[in-house]
Amino acid sequence: MRRIKLRHIFVHKCDWCNREIILNGQNSDPYVVNAERKYFCIEQTPGKPAKRDCMQDYLNYNKRVGDDKISRQKKQKEKEKKIAAIPRVMAKAKTYQNHHQR
Ligand SMILES: [Zn+2]
Repeated sequence: MRRIKLRHIFVHKCDWCNREIILNGQNSDPYVVNAERKYFCIEQTPGKPAKRDCMQDYLNYNKRVGDDKISRQKKQKEKEKKIAAIPRVMAKAKTYQNHHQR
């Protein structure tokens, strides 16, 4: 019986620069996948700074956009949340203490 070797080469486009990344096989490209399951190509010689690091570019871009778009309103809301959370935490600490004093 002859075995037919089936080689599936998976290709995924880089979510940042749209280059096709070959995920497996002999000519596979180095790539990284982030928590959002986005694929990014990366070009790096060990010991040297990356020539191309699409995930880093993507992160930097998001950070910049985030700083611009997440308005002060949202930041203000987060502050208010933190302040609102404090009395509850203190109340919890009190019950804890009472419980242990008995
Ligand atoms: Zn890329």
